[in-house]
Amino acid sequence: MVKGIELHINIQRQMFIADLPAKSLFMKTISYNGYSACTVCTAKGTCKGQVVYPYRQNMHSRRVHEEVVLSGKEAEQKQVPVDGIKGVSPMLQILNYPDQVVYDYMHLVCLGHMATLVKRWLPHLERNQLNEIDSQLKLLRLPHNVHAKFNYSIGDVSEWHAKHSRLFVLNVGLPSIISYLPKVMASHFAVYCLAIKLLHCPKSIDEISFAESLIDYYCRTAPLVFDGSIELLSLHAHMHLGEQVRQHGDLAFSSAFCFESCIRYLKKMVHGTKNLASQIAYWCDMRSAVPRPEFILQQATGKTKILFSSVKINQYRHILMNKLLEIGHDCKNIILFLRYKDKFNTYHSIIYDDSFSCASFIVSYNASTT
Ligand SMILES: [Zn+2]
Repeated sequence: MVKGIELHINIQRQMFIADLPAKSLFMKTISYNGYSACTVCTAKGTCKGQVVYPYRQNMHSRRVHEEVVLSGKEAEQKQVPVDGIKGVSPMLQILNYPDQVVYDYMHLVCLGHMATLVKRWLPHLERNQLNEIDSQLKLLRLPHNVHAKFNYSIGDVSEWHAKHSRLFVLNVGLPSIISYLPKVMASHFAVYCLAIKLLHCPKSIDEISFAESLIDYYCRTAPLVFDGSIELLSLHAHMHLGEQVRQHGDLAFSSAFCFESCIRYLKKMVHGTKNLASQIAYWCDMRSAVPRPEFILQQATGKTKILFSSVKINQYRHILMNKLLEIGHDCKNIILFLRYKDKFNTYHSIIYDDSFSCASFIVSYNASTT
């Protein structure tokens, strides 16, 4: 009951997101480095020192929920895994397998494959080239709300956080390395960046299909660019990302990034090492029971006023006055601001950013709605 009104709330499960070790633990499936470890298809894998999933052996046979349950029961009877399933997970009662058991973009792409790729490049880069790439990454000027300083060398990619790899694959990686890597590796990486960027925030179904064909090409040619040992489960799993985006939405909105960001917030609710979930539930309950002032969104507004006569505007004044005249404004009646805040976004001007190491003045917009 809320304010005397009885509400009926229909709760549905969207998906289960976890890194691969946690996923195999919860879903009672084989570890990610074993045979038949793909949670989406029935690819068996083959052993070449380690288990790999060669592209040419892909049969694209999707797993079926009922068969997974049967395999789980059989595995429990025989005490050995059957088709990569070790038992019947209670999670199967609330999740449809494999549609709702997804690959996490943060672990798979950012912490997994991106790090593998960089390690493959390192033998092809000389020390002075590594230094140049490092200094380019260190000198990056990013929007003020992107907190990803490259304090570690590309040679220490294992020290990078997921946010560094995300920025690398989506934005700055390709221009940083394209002139240093052998052409075939650089162009192969270009295909990867484009595919991930499209799946990160696709604008149409066609873009998802295009990304799928790019990933197919990328996976097919990966053993030719490197060697067969690159075809780990982490590469194979990329083949399923397109379908996942169709079912659950953009990678940007269906990954563990938001949950990882929430950990710091949740940590404040627990003390000690026991009954952690109960403690978190208790404090969430308490917070929802205490009435809190309604949150009101601020109106879009200018911030940090600047006078038209300010010396900071000197080099722009002439062109600014001309532009204002063109649209019939009198500069005497205009108030200038260095920043513009609209809901949760703040846009900076070049003049404002000049005194900082950020670059927030490049904004994108949809021309058709402007
Ligand atoms: Zn698969």
